[in-house]
Amino acid sequence: MQLTSILNSIEKYKGFVYDEVIFDRKAFKKTLLIHVRPRVGSKGYCSGCGVKGRHYDTLAPRRFQYVPLWAILVFLVYAMRRIDCRTCGVTVEMVPWADGKKRMTRSFQWFLAGWAKRLCWSDVAAAFQTSWSTVYRAVEGAVEWGLARHDLADITAIGVDEIHWGKAGGFLTLVYQIDGHRKRLLWIGQHRSKATIEAFFKWYGKERAANLQFVCSDMWKPYLRAIAKRASAAIHVLDRFHVMSHFSKAIDKVRAGEVKKMKSRGLNPVLKGSRWCWLKRPENLTETQGDTLKELLRLNLRTVKSYLLKEDFNNFWEYTYRKSAARFLDKWCSRTMYSKIDPMKDVARMLRAHRDLLLNWFDAKGQVSVGSVEGMNNKAKTTTKKSYGFRTYKAIRVAYYHALGDLPEPEFTHRFC
Ligand SMILES: [Zn+2]
Repeated sequence: MQLTSILNSIEKYKGFVYDEVIFDRKAFKKTLLIHVRPRVGSKGYCSGCGVKGRHYDTLAPRRFQYVPLWAILVFLVYAMRRIDCRTCGVTVEMVPWADGKKRMTRSFQWFLAGWAKRLCWSDVAAAFQTSWSTVYRAVEGAVEWGLARHDLADITAIGVDEIHWGKAGGFLTLVYQIDGHRKRLLWIGQHRSKATIEAFFKWYGKERAANLQFVCSDMWKPYLRAIAKRASAAIHVLDRFHVMSHFSKAIDKVRAGEVKKMKSRGLNPVLKGSRWCWLKRPENLTETQGDTLKELLRLNLRTVKSYLLKEDFNNFWEYTYRKSAARFLDKWCSRTMYSKIDPMKDVARMLRAHRDLLLNWFDAKGQVSVGSVEGMNNKAKTTTKKSYGFRTYKAIRVAYYHALGDLPEPEFTHRFC
């Protein structure tokens, strides 16, 4: 079977013919050149207005990179016609295998973008003998295409999340759809300021915001204020994962303080290197970590007390009714206020200050899935980890949308990956 027969069966372009195929084994990298020519008598389309026009002249042949085959680089080679268009004047024709002035075929672009969902971008570049920036451009093109066709219907629940990014304690704000039937990244913005969250609501639109039933967020003030104002009809829920992260931070503080104190008294700082024992759920500890924890629990330390308070608070989320949960919360807070452990007292104060929002959890229970924001946050972190070279906001934005946005993709007659 001829190569052109295969191409005709997987990717046929109306008005064009696959012509001669040349295998250049002497090139720096082995290359397959597939020549394309216009079908006899067919007219080209103006790239300005998309209307057929008269042939003006022909430019020098140009290479468009195609999906590689057996580690051989593949290019379509085509001499673009110039069209004498009645509306636009003389323009270069539009070709169906590439967008605008791009030197990459659409097939290759979506091929690279598909692999970039599974591997980190530098691995994709190495595997298919191309550069990081080519992979980036492919993904960027895919994201642009998807965003232009973003479907924002049927969203009833959103989660507002923040993620560390960049130097000097920078943040990004990520807004997810967290409905039972669909979870995805909807929007991303720089920083976590009032302006950031206001920009989200402006983009999202008043009408859509009015239709939201649930909004999940952490206790960050600018978020709380904007959500109360812009999505006032929704039940505002404080996300469990973010609430519990305040406990982890508090325990960390207590532990660090205690290590310091023990050292200054010349005692063996048994807590050193035990950080993970206190932050992990008991069932997730390794055997050694479990033994260390047992050892530590035998000592009556403030870290231990804090740890037990946190473990006890986990019961809060198990309640079914708002009232009984409220009773538990109030009791827990007053007990903690007597603990004499300042970081934990700060947690209790914070919980008291957000009592109503915390209790909204029980109105939304069963309707907003528990781990949605946490799950999306973990996926976002994995994307950041894979992010060799995503130093600019533009690149990280493209990476997040690509990995988490569940964006639409065009229908192809043949899928290369
Ligand atoms: Zn035109």
